[in-house]
Amino acid sequence: MPLAEIQARVNAACDAANRPISDVSLIAVSKVQPNERVAAILEQGHRIFGENKVQEAAGKWPAFRETYEGIVLHLIGPLQTNKARQAMELAQAIHTLDRPKLATTIARLAQDMGMCPDLFIQVNTGEEPQKAGVLPSEADDFVAEVRALDLPLKGLMCIPPVDEEPSLHFALLAKIAARNGLSGLSMGMSSDFESAIALGATHVRVGSAIFGERVYG
Ligand SMILES: *Cc1c(COP(=O)(O)O)cnc(C)c1O
Repeated sequence: MPLAEIQARVNAACDAANRPISDVSLIAVSKVQPNERVAAILEQGHRIFGENKVQEAAGKWPAFRETYEGIVLHLIGPLQTNKARQAMELAQAIHTLDRPKLATTIARLAQDMGMCPDLFIQVNTGEEPQKAGVLPSEADDFVAEVRALDLPLKGLMCIPPVDEEPSLHFALLAKIAARNGLSGLSMGMSSDFESAIALGATHVRVGSAIFGERVYG
């Protein structure tokens, strides 16, 4: 689907929810996509992108930044502590803060580097064992811990289980954010970004609907 069509759907969902369009950032998730497809989206003026892997982002975005100004990169995949510095150099936001060790590592690096990307805490709303993120019952404590480290915490992020109604997870994430005074909500992907916006998403992460199916390997 053309980017303009997705942006129009984002705007319509904002209108329907009585929210200003400026509330919602459309993150074009470019992981695994060939560079030509990414360049085509950049040519259309889009500047907000998401990547899953530090290594892949490092191989791709420094070159694009030489050609296109104002790129904002969001890291939306799991982050190992030994890649935290590189992630902080590459990305303007990290959506996958999910454990104390990563928080203290980022805090130490932020001191050292004199800067820190915007941070989102990943919440495992479906309590899936294979999925990253803090459990909903642990979220309030972890928010407090991250704040005590003086980190720029913007909000929460979730990836609902594939076989469940996503809106229940979006509503839960919004509730946890609200009671912690957090305004950022990174939720909603290609198949459900409109319902995420209805429930308060500020950042929707849309890949295949913009770029087409990902081809691995
Ligand atoms: C790949 C990915 C997306 C985009 O998924 P689509 O279904 O292609 O829109 C969003 N969020 C995360 C965390 C992802 O890994």
